[in-house]
Amino acid sequence: MIVFKFGGTSVKDSDGVRNLFNIVKTCSDNLIIVVSALGKTTNALEEILKLSLDESDKCKIKLESLKDYHFDIIKNLFPDKKHEIYEQIEEQFKNLYSESFDKKHDSFDLKYDQVVSFGEIFSTKIISAFLNSQEFSNKWIDIRKVLITDDTYREAKIDMKLSKTKVEENISFKDNNIYLTQGFIGGSKSGFVTTLGREGSDYTAAVLGNLLDAEKVVVWKDVDGVLNADPQYFNETKKLDKISYQEAVELAYFGAKVIHPKTLKPLHNKNIPLFVRSFINPEGQGTEIDCFQKYDQNLPIFILKKDQMLISLFPKDLSFVMEDELSKIFSYLSEQRIRVNLIQNSAISFSLCIDNANSKSKQLLEKFKDDYKVLYNDQLELLTIRHYSEEAIKKVTEGRKIYIEQRSRHTSHFVIK
Ligand code: ADP
Ligand code: ASP
Ligand code: MG
Repeated sequence: MIVFKFGGTSVKDSDGVRNLFNIVKTCSDNLIIVVSALGKTTNALEEILKLSLDESDKCKIKLESLKDYHFDIIKNLFPDKKHEIYEQIEEQFKNLYSESFDKKHDSFDLKYDQVVSFGEIFSTKIISAFLNSQEFSNKWIDIRKVLITDDTYREAKIDMKLSKTKVEENISFKDNNIYLTQGFIGGSKSGFVTTLGREGSDYTAAVLGNLLDAEKVVVWKDVDGVLNADPQYFNETKKLDKISYQEAVELAYFGAKVIHPKTLKPLHNKNIPLFVRSFINPEGQGTEIDCFQKYDQNLPIFILKKDQMLISLFPKDLSFVMEDELSKIFSYLSEQRIRVNLIQNSAISFSLCIDNANSKSKQLLEKFKDDYKVLYNDQLELLTIRHYSEEAIKKVTEGRKIYIEQRSRHTSHFVIK
């Protein structure tokens, strides 16, 4: 069996859904199709949640416009207004309305997951019904009852053992060859919906691939494959044809958004290849990520992480920054779920480059001020170059202010403005 995953960009409108159908209908294997929310629905739901807290009029307007967006797509795909999908989505929007204004949850993160998870429910109901209407018979799976997680809302961890049993009960390929389900979401043991972290649908596809021993997982994107830089920020990018899991982990970890960082481990554990292919040019070969030994394309790979904050800490009494100090700093960062992208230390100072998460970063600076003299810079970029050459470094750093530079055998990092 094979797992296909389609992200929001691929299904942002009715043409996108038709294109998905054209791609899946050429597949003759047993198949699970994992789908994200339509277009930018998850961002819209995040906004709805924020507005629901104290701007209920604006919240209702936003809810209406999200509903119109979905019904425009439905009207285009289902000319028969009596099709049951109209009622089903109407019902789901009613549920979203009540969840949005519900006051029963004290925890913001818990409420976040109950609200934001609707995007994937809408999209998969619509797409599953559309494929069935085209005689591409498929079964809709409620992944909230299959991928069982802990209750770390917004960043839930999947219980692989429990989920394996549920997967076997629900996805057997006995009566069906094609299943369609939601990326990004799961269900906690206490019965609430959970989410796996933003952009997490790639990860869902990988976990299902692992649990079902898939032959391969294919993620369909708006690019020809993994390129040697993000085409949004770099000209003259080239496709990487084959890369190892290790290479892909490095790229994803340092910010190549094309693959979610958590995607590689479940696949590597079972040697399942991952293909990144283009939904715009589905005939293209894409990139294969597999157990390759060496990177042999002789191209530097550029990865850019924006909106970085560099913080330097100096103990007030000139004492050394030793292990117990570092362990205190890191346990606080981990408690706050602040991601550290790069560190550098000297005898009496310690610097860290983090994703700037606004209110959290401010809190962090305040916290550090108790024990250290704190200096910081924000709006920086972290530029990573894998397989670098002097020429490649010069090309991207020339004329820019470098705050930190680190080089190892295959990788160089620059914190720059
Ligand atoms: P999805 O629709 O599946 O969520 P994403 O939008 O998250 O897909 O990922 C695709 C985007 O990743 C591309 O549009 C591109 O701008 C970005 N990207 C970043 N780094 C790379 C890279 N090295 N190769 C290809 N695309 C990249
Ligand atoms: N819809 C979710 C998000 O936008 C998950 C995903 O697209 O991967 O974050
Ligand atoms: Mg994505």
